[in-house]
Amino acid sequence: MDYISTRGNKQKKRFAQGVLQGIAEDKGLFVPETIPALDKPLKDLVELPYQAIAYEVMKSFAPDFTEDELNACINQAYDQKFSVKEIAPIVSVGDACFLELYHGKTSAFKDMALSILPHLLVTAMKKEGETSKIVILTATSGDTGKAALEGFADVESVEIFVFYPEGGVSQIQKMQMLTQEGDNTHVYSIHGNFDDAQTAVKHMFNDPSFAAELREKGYKLSSANSINPGRLIPQVVYYVYTYTQLVKKGEIKLGEAMNVVVPTGNFGNILAAYYAKSMGVPIKKLICASNENNVLTDFIRSGKYHIKDRDFYLTNSPSMDILISSNLERLLFHLSDGNGDMVQSLMETLEKEGVYEINPSMKESLKDFYGGYADENQVLKVIKDLYKKEGYLMDTHTAVAYKVYENYKQETGDQTKTVIVSTASPYKFTKSVLNAINEEGLSQGNTEFEMVNILGKLSKMPVPEGLKDLDKKKIRHGKVVEVKALASVVKGDLK
Ligand SMILES: *Cc1c(COP(=O)(O)O)cnc(C)c1O
Repeated sequence: MDYISTRGNKQKKRFAQGVLQGIAEDKGLFVPETIPALDKPLKDLVELPYQAIAYEVMKSFAPDFTEDELNACINQAYDQKFSVKEIAPIVSVGDACFLELYHGKTSAFKDMALSILPHLLVTAMKKEGETSKIVILTATSGDTGKAALEGFADVESVEIFVFYPEGGVSQIQKMQMLTQEGDNTHVYSIHGNFDDAQTAVKHMFNDPSFAAELREKGYKLSSANSINPGRLIPQVVYYVYTYTQLVKKGEIKLGEAMNVVVPTGNFGNILAAYYAKSMGVPIKKLICASNENNVLTDFIRSGKYHIKDRDFYLTNSPSMDILISSNLERLLFHLSDGNGDMVQSLMETLEKEGVYEINPSMKESLKDFYGGYADENQVLKVIKDLYKKEGYLMDTHTAVAYKVYENYKQETGDQTKTVIVSTASPYKFTKSVLNAINEEGLSQGNTEFEMVNILGKLSKMPVPEGLKDLDKKKIRHGKVVEVKALASVVKGDLK
């Protein structure tokens, strides 16, 4: 199985090449030509641990990796760096289940893929005989940045650059990044929002003269964003794992369907669920949950993607403050049966006119998705209600999903077992979470770092290692730059 571009370039690439390159020559994203079916029946996977399922899933998407190579990557990624041995535990609360994807080092779901990406990349370099050093460019709305820095810190022959929107991330997210160690790490904030950062990074990828200048210095570009197929494929694993765990726990019978609700920004996480469904995991509805930046809700309901004249909101779920969801391009490719020319023209229309509409047959195939959104006040209310009722604490992103799940149930009456994808530890967004659950106003007058301890005492949930004493760590980064200057910043730092 090979990878091709979403935009019509038919040149085939191995998985290793896709991981190294990050993005296709024609600006498209790499997709598997066809999504493979699961190699073994689900019943044979029910008793397997996370790592073994990771192997079963990933081998179909990375046939160029040997069994030993792939298992080495998996075993180096999913180990004691995760604070629970299940890696991605499933917790039943009321009538729903939460898939907790935040037990990695940086307390957000990005660790699920970014703990393995560096190993995939280093293996890919060896396999492809790559002699250049790799420069990883990353735009982040807060969580990808830290997880990528943590994953790539001090990895040989790699330099990593992270750009986040100044004022667009939580104080905790910011300190996590600014205190990052590792001689190969570079962190900047930009004047602008996440879309500005992501667009600027994409421009660098697509600028041939920039690539040539780097090549002269012995560097090649790659990406740690979810445009990299090495991010997407590891995410398919936990949807297969979730299904097998639900069967194992007796929550569903083998063959019975589940729904998933995914708090969505760049569409990477929910796209991985779509891949799992395409592989044969019985998923009935893929429920796409957005915050006030609800461009995807409208798209799923109308088939029209419309960002022109749309306001960009900074919300209490900042990792989802995105209007240009880059992975949607991959879905368009699959929904159009691999019509790269059409995807190319839709993307051009979006760039020129800020809007596009898909054709009726593609719209028809969107029916497996349901789109909904929740606003900031609804988020705070469901955090408080669920905590009071069940003693279970959600972060703000997970709460967006939970609220959309409630709306979905009410609207459809669907009784299917539903998994809420929990994408961050409540500690990562302490200020909002504390504000939601406590009436004595402890969120006032304290720094976010003090609030971590207050929340710890209140909730009795252990504070994740990586978030302890963040304010006492040494700040190692902190420059603010203009988006126009990113290319020269990168060149300057590479010397
Ligand atoms: C990145 C992120 C999301 C959005 O995931 P996408 O794959 O971009 O849709 C949701 N919640 C949290 C906490 C995140 O860090």
